[in-house]
Amino acid sequence: MSLRIKKNDRVYVLSGKDKGKEGKIIKVFPKEGRAIVEGINRIKRHTRPTPTIRQGGIIEREAPIYLCKLMLVCPNCGQPTRFFAGFDSNGNKVRICKKCKEIIDRKE
Ligand SMILES: [Zn+2]
Repeated sequence: MSLRIKKNDRVYVLSGKDKGKEGKIIKVFPKEGRAIVEGINRIKRHTRPTPTIRQGGIIEREAPIYLCKLMLVCPNCGQPTRFFAGFDSNGNKVRICKKCKEIIDRKE
């Protein structure tokens, strides 16, 4: 298990046009070091008419954002935070909030 930002994590945007906003990770691209975050880094794409869709238009969608621009939001204290590796009572590797020292990864 990696100790990075993962899918479904809540994150805070540190820089860029969406600075200060929060969103949920939809998808992570580990090799690229980027992720798609719900409602963050939205871009407008112009689509051309196709045989099936006769009218072209504008589609708004999220573009990937660099992970270094994101900070994990702790589900316990609700603050953007860094985290470190630790173990829960069952010996599972978990992420721990540097601010409140609580376990970030909840059991599923
Ligand atoms: Zn915390």
